Amino acid sequence: MAVQLHPSIDSGVKKGSGSFAGGTLVCNCKDRPVKVGIKGDVAHNHACGCTKCWKPDGATFSVVAVVPRENVTVLENGDKLQIVDSSAVIQRYACKACGTHMYGRIENKAHPFYGLDFIHPELFQEAGSAAPGFAAFVSSVIESGVNPSEMPAIRARLREIGLEPYDCLSPALMDVIATHVAQSRQKAA
Ligand SMILES: [Zn+2]
Ligand SMILES: [Zn+2]
Repeated sequence: MAVQLHPSIDSGVKKGSGSFAGGTLVCNCKDRPVKVGIKGDVAHNHACGCTKCWKPDGATFSVVAVVPRENVTVLENGDKLQIVDSSAVIQRYACKACGTHMYGRIENKAHPFYGLDFIHPELFQEAGSAAPGFAAFVSSVIESGVNPSEMPAIRARLREIGLEPYDCLSPALMDVIATHVAQSRQKAA
């Protein structure tokens, strides 16, 4: 039985065009879909196994990327958006009708990722945004109900499609966080 990760990567990772100018994210509603405009390409696109990221039905992972918050604009039907959990670090704005998360925003200015919004590139109407490059929080899929015995096959499949599995974030992003912590300690000293 083939391991199902996420519909947008199960048949292989599609490369980005390298010149994606931005596009429109659309929720799954047939009637009055929420539309969110994104300027420019996404960064740090990855598969995520955490329990907080939105996943389409049946998916084991989410696919999530970041964009500068100033590049995110709600275009249509923003009245359907609500914050999933206002106590969470990332304020995830979801469509009340279909449940799709449209963007996640960090309001804590001290957070290492402040200034970046989290989006799900599969919601783009347009093709060509930067492809996922790794898989984060892979072990956390167990918390969503995956049997631990399936983990070797899941990690093998991630590697097969070119997404190195990590159980936290990628080394590059862990370095960003640690650098932020080191710099804020220097400032405080
Ligand atoms: Zn919707
Ligand atoms: Zn996640």
